[in-house]
Amino acid sequence: MEAPRIIENSPFARIARLVLRTRSVAMVLGQSIHLSGATREQFLRDPYWVAHEMCHIRQFREHGTISFLWKYLLESARVGYYHNRYEAEARVAGRLDAGLYANGRPLPAPEDCHQGAGPA
Ligand SMILES: [Zn+2]
Repeated sequence: MEAPRIIENSPFARIARLVLRTRSVAMVLGQSIHLSGATREQFLRDPYWVAHEMCHIRQFREHGTISFLWKYLLESARVGYYHNRYEAEARVAGRLDAGLYANGRPLPAPEDCHQGAGPA
């Protein structure tokens, strides 16, 4: 599998950041990770966060881009962002898969990870 593209200062992620009212946002669209309020280095340094977004990359690949966007939006409209089943799945992945993205370093304390990425 090709490594996903990381796009800094993304206008799409900026909109999500304003809507969610958070300091920083990573948002997957298709097979790209869009960042706002965080640099590529800050993102990659947080294995919980990377594991969370890699789960969204898999979801997009499994469902297809347009189909997944539609399902994700329907689910968000129905139950909200936090209870969205795709977010719940990504939070579990954030916890379980963080070790895969730690690059040989010890895992950071879960409370230091990006808000909502997994352990929270
Ligand atoms: Zn997510």
